[in-house]
Amino acid sequence: MLNPILFYSTNFRAESLDFRHALLKGQAPDRGLYMPQEIPVISREELDTFSTQDYPRIAFEIIGRFLRQQIPDDDLLDLCQDAYDYDVPLEKVYDSKYIMRLDQGPTASFKDFAARMMGRLMQYYLNQEKRSLLILTATSGDTGSAIANAFYGLDNIKVVVLFPRKEVTARQRKQMTTLGKNVQILALDAKFDDCQSLVKQAFADPDLEYLHLSSANSINIGRLIPQIVYYFYAFARLRKGKANDGVIFSVPSGNFGDMMGGMLALKMGLPVIKYIIATNENDEFPVLVKTGVYKKIEPSRNCISSAMNVGHPSNLARLIALYGGIMDEKGNMMKQPDLELMRKDIYAVSIDDAGTRKTIHTAYQKHRLLLEPHGAVGWAGLQQFLQDNPQFDDPEQLYISLETAHPAKFPEQIREILNIDPKLPPSLEGIESKEETYSSIDNNYHDFKKYLITNY
Ligand SMILES: *Cc1c(COP(=O)(O)O)cnc(C)c1O
Repeated sequence: MLNPILFYSTNFRAESLDFRHALLKGQAPDRGLYMPQEIPVISREELDTFSTQDYPRIAFEIIGRFLRQQIPDDDLLDLCQDAYDYDVPLEKVYDSKYIMRLDQGPTASFKDFAARMMGRLMQYYLNQEKRSLLILTATSGDTGSAIANAFYGLDNIKVVVLFPRKEVTARQRKQMTTLGKNVQILALDAKFDDCQSLVKQAFADPDLEYLHLSSANSINIGRLIPQIVYYFYAFARLRKGKANDGVIFSVPSGNFGDMMGGMLALKMGLPVIKYIIATNENDEFPVLVKTGVYKKIEPSRNCISSAMNVGHPSNLARLIALYGGIMDEKGNMMKQPDLELMRKDIYAVSIDDAGTRKTIHTAYQKHRLLLEPHGAVGWAGLQQFLQDNPQFDDPEQLYISLETAHPAKFPEQIREILNIDPKLPPSLEGIESKEETYSSIDNNYHDFKKYLITNY
């Protein structure tokens, strides 16, 4: 058997672990993020075979590369088939420009892809070890519901989700608060970053060690690896042939988990010409790429693409690590990454709310393309890239822009901008009339800690 791939911490002050241990730990003890020491490569021949394989099989191939048979093949394939029992539509917009809709999972968000696989992998290992975990997660909207749904009803995993009361839509809230069982929800009059910071403090608190806390935020390596898969899948389905292979993805980004999945796909050998990384008005990353100077945005700016209102992306340290730099958990650049190399792979752009609204409107008028605010930031980023780089504006060039949520999750904006009511996907039907249960706590660590100790 091959030696396992080890995962190092981006702060370089913690022991490297294999996948199982990094998954169950979440964040490294030195507050860094786990990254693979070695990135497995998918050969061109293997990539060719993906064109005829279904999504669960491609997931099995990609994820399996990182596990190196630590889970027997049959078991891992079962987990993939169970996690990915829904469609991944690729919708042509014009020329060779496509939208990949990652919104057909149980919570109609792309976060289902990561959360469902991570939940199943954790459950698999915990069953073997006959032990349990408490998952703490902060959400700006979609993570919480994806995590809550992915773990709902599992025997040995309990979940606590913190959310900023005013930054989450009623529908997003109901997807979390109508579950019950092993899932508890806490509302805070605070921002997403505050919720995230309480969760991080709890992880570092020795008094809470007895709870076996784990994170299910996008910082968990078990969420990152499944997010590599759809980049391979989309390329395998839409590629043009061997001569002019190569794709440009546009990724609407907040905490950069999604784009890190893409970056790992690139390092694994996927022929990606460029990643367009589109943020909303929280433009700390586009500014970094342009100027080389990183400055968090505190507090983060409120935009209609609310799941991307992030003033300091929690996965940024991983990207910096990939380009040879070091960023600590507070966002201090301890060592500068290779910016030139980064600029070769990445085009970063910030789209404001006016641009987002306009894009939703024009895409619908011009192409009958229905986008919600997050996907619209991605599509607007693609348009901006074409304007800035006319040499890439070739009708033959394959472009894939990610749509990260279902438009029906943002009915107010869609109604206001397009004057239509997007139809609910089957997974969200009936949610309006279900009963909600959740608690409220103040935004201070003392109260949060008391809540955990009293309830668990
Ligand atoms: C979380 C989220 C994003 C941002 O994804 P990151 O991995 O945090 O960059 C984009 N769109 C939607 C709908 C989301 O829920």
